[in-house]
Amino acid sequence: MTTADTMTAHPSDIVPVERAADVHCVRVAKTFAGGTVALREVRLHCPPGEITVLLGPSGCGKTTLLRCIAGLETPTGGSIRIGDRDVTQTDPRKRGVAMVFQNYGLYPNKTAHDNIEYPLRLARVPKGERRDRVARVAGLLQIDHLLDRKPAQLSGGQRQRVGIGRALVREPAVLLMDEPLSSLDAELRVSMRTEIRALQRKLGTTMVYVTHDQTEALALADQLVVLRDGRIEHSGNPEQVFGSPATTFVAGFLGAMNLLDAQPLGLAPGTIGIRPEDLLAGETPGALTLHGPVIDTDLTGTERIVHFRCGQQTVRIRLRADDPVPEHITAHALPDRIHRFDSEGNRTEARP
Ligand code: ATP
Repeated sequence: MTTADTMTAHPSDIVPVERAADVHCVRVAKTFAGGTVALREVRLHCPPGEITVLLGPSGCGKTTLLRCIAGLETPTGGSIRIGDRDVTQTDPRKRGVAMVFQNYGLYPNKTAHDNIEYPLRLARVPKGERRDRVARVAGLLQIDHLLDRKPAQLSGGQRQRVGIGRALVREPAVLLMDEPLSSLDAELRVSMRTEIRALQRKLGTTMVYVTHDQTEALALADQLVVLRDGRIEHSGNPEQVFGSPATTFVAGFLGAMNLLDAQPLGLAPGTIGIRPEDLLAGETPGALTLHGPVIDTDLTGTERIVHFRCGQQTVRIRLRADDPVPEHITAHALPDRIHRFDSEGNRTEARP
């Protein structure tokens, strides 16, 4: 399946979802039996019909939060509401949610058709309705011609569609996705994420999507939530979170901002943040100038990240890949491109 034939389903193919529901997590906490604290009083509102992306490093609690919303884990504190129902203690099958897993969780001995149909069988949906709903979802995902195949006879991207189909066929009010693209190659990831967003827009489903990939998160999110150590570090629209990160952690995680001790640069104590792309070659009056010897380079394709030493600190700047790499860098950052954080790592409005 190529990107050319993405989501071109006729409007009549659209799966009639229930009215999209919002999700409220109210001080949700989870401590596992062994004592691991995975979530610490998480407060989160996922607006109806929008994609909320949970982003953060391995172990920060993303999957645990998603599983609590799904009902696959029971929180040890707080409550969860879907729409106007408190579902904290509700059986997963009665929450109106469906989940797509990282490995798709398909039954290897069932055909694509039977995999998609299975949740409807479990719910004792009558045969005729089952047939119609599977056909609609298969049409929407453009996998009609693959329905007789078993998972081993499908490509990764096709398997992923079957996994999504099995979730959509239940017509969930909330669709939960746990790193659904992580086993696909880079090119397919990009095309599938475009499709997932198009599909979500078309269906109007509320979606909660877990990833540790910042590019995927920025591309998909209506609401971006950065988690760290079981807490929400920053949430907002992607432009806000990327443009004005609340903490040095968010700034470093999202877009790999240079974080520099301000005092050795002759500025007031705290940390300053400058994105590698906001450092410009040469000097300009009124700008902060950084200079020092080049110590390393990483080619990313059309660009090269050049690491240079500035006093005791290492700074990264982006240069065009076909530009020569100098032995010394002199670069400047304009005042409005410099982010400022206090000694606790929290953003301050003051400019350096
Ligand atoms: P990843 O990106 O690696 O999947 P994550 O952000 O999804 O990470 P979680 O899987 O939610 O993180 O795990 C959060 C913390 O809870 C981790 O410290 C993890 O080791 C721990 N944890 C998760 N599941 C269990 C479990 N069933 N029993 C005990 N501890 C667990």
